[in-house]
Amino acid sequence: MNIVLLGAPGAGKGTQAARLVDEFGLVQVSTGDLLRAAARAGTPLGIEAKGYMDAGELVPDSLVIGLIKEFLAKPEAAQGVILDGFPRNTTQAVALAAEFDALGLEIDLAIAIQVDFEVIVARLAARRCCKDCGLIGSVDDMICPACGGEMYQRDDDMPQTVRNRLAIYEKSTAPLIEYYRGADLLIEVDGDRHPDIVFADIKKYMV
Ligand code: AMP
Repeated sequence: MNIVLLGAPGAGKGTQAARLVDEFGLVQVSTGDLLRAAARAGTPLGIEAKGYMDAGELVPDSLVIGLIKEFLAKPEAAQGVILDGFPRNTTQAVALAAEFDALGLEIDLAIAIQVDFEVIVARLAARRCCKDCGLIGSVDDMICPACGGEMYQRDDDMPQTVRNRLAIYEKSTAPLIEYYRGADLLIEVDGDRHPDIVFADIKKYMV
């Protein structure tokens, strides 16, 4: 099964993707994680992407489409994939559809996790991530509950940058909800509930 996860930054895409990986053996790809890893490693792509990411802007389409194509070409992608944070606009969605076509694969489901923007601003202000394993935790986690690693706040989780990311989401990414509804692939879930309840909702569609 191949799944696109849609939702504003902080809606809980990463959290739900991790559960889908555990329960259904799918392989997750997060363009945000790939870009952050490239920025940390100081690769040319990472250096180019970092300026956009710190400002909360979208990284140019050609860079992220290249990353996704590389990922889809890997043998493990044949197990079924969860695309977390890609596509972010119509150009990327069209490129993704073309790549799936070329590989003889199909997108089975687009899951839109809906959360009110004010809830998201508060959520992201309290979000902390593990430097080592990427676990998503909160300001209450002094060390990573999974691996004991150091927790940090992403630069782009500062309130002003979050508002910019939400404005870009509204303009560029939210139209994809109609795009996937038109393709008869969309389900919408209310993400302003406990992650277990959100996941229970999602599971109903995993047939
Ligand atoms: P995320 O971890 O998904 O919130 O992404 C963090 C940042 O990475 C975003 O604010 C963008 O700057 C960049 N990014 C991630 N995915 C994409 C994408 N599909 N297209 C463009 N930029 C992206």
